[in-house]
Formats: sequence, C-alpha cells, structure tokens
Amino acid sequence: AEEGLRQSQKMEAIGQLTGGIAHDFNNLLTGIIGALDLVNRRIKAGQTHDVQPFMDAASASANRAAALTHRLLAFARRQPLDPKAVNANELIRGMEDLFTRSLGEQIRLRTDLAPDLWPTLSDANQLENALLNLAINARDAMPDGGALTISTTNTVVARAERHGQDVLEPGHYTLIEVQDTGAGMEPEVLAKVFEPFFTTKPIGQGTGLGLSMIYGFAKQSRGHVRIESQPGAGTQVRLYLPRHKGQLANEAPLMVAQSPNGS
Ligand code: ADP
Repeated sequence: AEEGLRQSQKMEAIGQLTGGIAHDFNNLLTGIIGALDLVNRRIKAGQTHDVQPFMDAASASANRAAALTHRLLAFARRQPLDPKAVNANELIRGMEDLFTRSLGEQIRLRTDLAPDLWPTLSDANQLENALLNLAINARDAMPDGGALTISTTNTVVARAERHGQDVLEPGHYTLIEVQDTGAGMEPEVLAKVFEPFFTTKPIGQGTGLGLSMIYGFAKQSRGHVRIESQPGAGTQVRLYLPRHKGQLANEAPLMVAQSPNGS
C-alpha cells in the first residue's frame, strides 16, 4: 500500500512537472515566434535596419527555453545518491568564493561553523547543489542587499517532530541553516515551495525546481528540510542530514529517481 501511495505521489509530481514545463515552454515559444514574425515582415517591407532588437529578444527566449529543458532533464535523470562521509564545514568553506560571486556585492556572507562538527552521511555533489540553490534563492529575495548566514551545528533529536506531513525522526544530525534578511514569504507561498515547478519568479528566471529537488534530496538522505519565513524580515532554511556512523558497507544504496529505461 505504501508503495502504491508513493507511486501515485510520483505520478502526481510528474503531472505537475509536465504541466508546468509545457506552460513555460509555450510562453517562450510564443515570444520567439512573435519576434521572428515581426522580423520577417520588416525584411519583406525592406526595413532591415531595426530588426536587431527583435532578433535579440528571440535569441534570449530561445536560450531561456534551452536552459529550462536542461534543468528538466537534469531533474528527470537525477542520480542515485552516492552517500559518503561528508564534512559539511569543509564543503561550505570550499564554496565560499562561489557564494560570494553568486551573491554579488550588496549581500554579505557570514558563516558560523561549529567546531567538531559531526561528519554527515550525504552526497557531496547534491549537497553543494542544494546549498548553491539556497544561496541563489536568498540573493533573489534581497534585491537591495542584506546578509546571508550559513551555520552548522550538531543536533540531537530526542523525540519525533512532526511538521505538516513530514516527520523528523529521532537521531543525531548535522544541521545546516541558511538564513537571509530578504523579502520572506507569505504563508500561501511558503505552503507551496516544495512543489515541483512552483515559482513566483518571471519565466526564464525561476524553474520552481530548486526547493523540490532539495526536498527530495533531504528525504532520500533520511534527513529533513524545514523552512520558516517572515514576510519583510527574511527566511531560514534548516537542512538536517544524518550523522555518519561509519556502517556504509552493509547498507542498501539509496535511490532517488530512476529514468524509465533504468539508466
Ligand atoms: P525558483 O527559485 O526557481 O522559483 P524554488 O523551488 O527554489 O524555485 O523556489 C520556489 C519559490 O519559493 C520561489 O519562486 C520564491 O517565491 C520562494 N522562495 C524560495 N526561497 C526563498 C527565499 N529565500 N526568500 C523568499 N522566497 C523564497
């Protein structure tokens, strides 16, 4: 029964995915076709001098459409997790330059990394992706500047904690918190952020996949992700990843999504 439920949830997510992508894609194509039509008409009328802006617009939309398909393909072909002992502090330190460049000059980056942080059982590549996505979301929420704080702590959860439909199981976790001083979210937005293709950003700028991928990553890692947000004050994302206890050999591999042909 649980397998059936999981399957139907998967189908629902795929339905949302295809619906969302078709809509965004169609909008981009409409823009490209419109711009090319205009260029065509002008060329036929012998007015070739001012077609450049329309060609630029068509080209920009085509590039956005290409970026959208790339992300969709990356989403569909998500790799199985490759869980290993990861030192989150080292991983974050290694990303500091990338964070600073992505955030721009208006946003200060602060890190507050716990000494003697437990190693976490995680996939380093996917964790990097997740943190970069969070930093970019934070940047987008702070157009007038602000601060992004990334902190790590060792956390023991003594009793199961329920959050909506999700449960944080008791255990030892490495907790990574990403906090911004940006626009925050209204409760209606916050309720939908983990849905694939939910975005409040303009077409081509947001795919709505970032947080749904992070949600999947947290679940498959047997961890947990939780977001708190105050409109006008900022947003805090908490990512719980299980502590690595060094018993990898006899554990079944963790799988994320599998493509239909099994590759
Ligand atoms: P995308 O960034 O492509 O829109 P995400 O799944 O990462 O996709 O985020 C979904 C939506 O959640 C965003 O469009 C935005 O409305 C909201 N959101 C995410 N992170 C933040 C944040 N740090 N501050 C405010 N809103 C956020």
